Amino acid sequence: MQKREKMTLTTKVVIGMVAGIVTGLVINMAGLNAPQSFTHLYIVDGLFHVVGTMFITALKMLVVPLVLFSLISGVLGIGDIGQLGKVGAKAFVLYLLTTALAIALGITVAVFSGVGEGAHLTTTAAFAAKEAPPLSQVLIDIIPGNIVDAMAEGKMLQIIFFSILLGISILMTGEKAKPLVAGIEIMNEVMMHMVNIIMAVAPYAVFALIAKAIAGLGLDLLMNLAGYVIVLVTALLLHLYGTLMVIFKLFTGLDVRMLLRKLRDVQVFAFSTSSSNATIPVTLRTVTERLGVDNSVASFTVPFGATINMDGTAIMQGVATVFIANAYGVDLGFSGYLTVIMMSVLASIGTAGVPGVGLIMLSMVFTQVGLPVEGIGLILGVDRLLDMIRTAVNVSGDAVVSVVVGKSERKFDPAIYSDPEAGILTEEELHIDETVEEELAEVVEALEHDRGKS
Ligand code: ASP
Repeated sequence: MQKREKMTLTTKVVIGMVAGIVTGLVINMAGLNAPQSFTHLYIVDGLFHVVGTMFITALKMLVVPLVLFSLISGVLGIGDIGQLGKVGAKAFVLYLLTTALAIALGITVAVFSGVGEGAHLTTTAAFAAKEAPPLSQVLIDIIPGNIVDAMAEGKMLQIIFFSILLGISILMTGEKAKPLVAGIEIMNEVMMHMVNIIMAVAPYAVFALIAKAIAGLGLDLLMNLAGYVIVLVTALLLHLYGTLMVIFKLFTGLDVRMLLRKLRDVQVFAFSTSSSNATIPVTLRTVTERLGVDNSVASFTVPFGATINMDGTAIMQGVATVFIANAYGVDLGFSGYLTVIMMSVLASIGTAGVPGVGLIMLSMVFTQVGLPVEGIGLILGVDRLLDMIRTAVNVSGDAVVSVVVGKSERKFDPAIYSDPEAGILTEEELHIDETVEEELAEVVEALEHDRGKS
């Protein structure tokens, strides 16, 4: 009985996803999504849109307080500040390495497949290039001029910087800060419960998000660009199941199948939200409670990865560059591709994990290597779906590096990792114990009573 209950949420989310794909396909293929139709107005852009957006907004609502409290408590719990620097350096190097490998793989697969060669494609939509920030600005932007601003805008690197500094300052305060430390620990736990509450509605939200996305896809466009889509998806899968798993096995020696099994939730969330940032609560929960990485490492590596690590997006940069270069008959040559690799790695550091950001990075890469930025218009129509897939690869990379760093720093619990049931969300976790409810009400009453007396 217990076991069946435990399986419910994960299974439900997957069912939601599959049902969403089927529903979306039916709406799309039956032509029910015409601009003024009932289905479009009230179902796709009505119900699905509302439910999906409310869910993504709720996840985003969690991100800032969750990162703040878990990172401060991570710094407090690391036990040795020197170790913090080591965790940061390791994560940074691994994130850059996986991103560079990803784009190299993307370019290789694309070059060998000859994708886009002889294509006589016409631009389907105009693409207005937006700027990705230059490296100097990325460095300056790590420091928040105003932390409230940083939080309001969800600027992850700034929030990370402030939280670490605050954690260190609390440590320096010493003995006096003990109640504050306890308070932060409790808040961290409280935030995790909030994640659980939001996750309870995930199956329905995932259904709505995916049904809407698929209903709105230009499937005929997808056929036109089948070559590009197939090559890109192949490279993404090769990276996820090949490169990342080899790195994981080499560095940790752990069972890869267990990792893939436990990553499913995170991937489904990333797939349906198209945002590494919005997926942070789920990634953090999975990495700590299901994969056994200590919060002192995960609270840093997960939000850091969501911002600077984008393996899937990097692969898309590689494949798209080769595709457009071939389609326009431009020969980029070895040095051109090297530039693409460097630019993509740098661009991934400065850009946040939000939907569609890969296209912004791509315009930067194109400008650098002299490809026409309008070329991006060719792939715009299918980018929605590809964004979903590459975001799932992005977050998988974040989780892999988190486990690698956690294990190498001995901030890792192998018992949690190898327990298939560990951290699975059960109905019980959403249950409020009646005695606790009464006890806490009494505490509040007593406090109010004391306040009344003084
Ligand atoms: N949506 C991706 C992410 O959030 C970024 C992108 O490829 O556009 O990780």
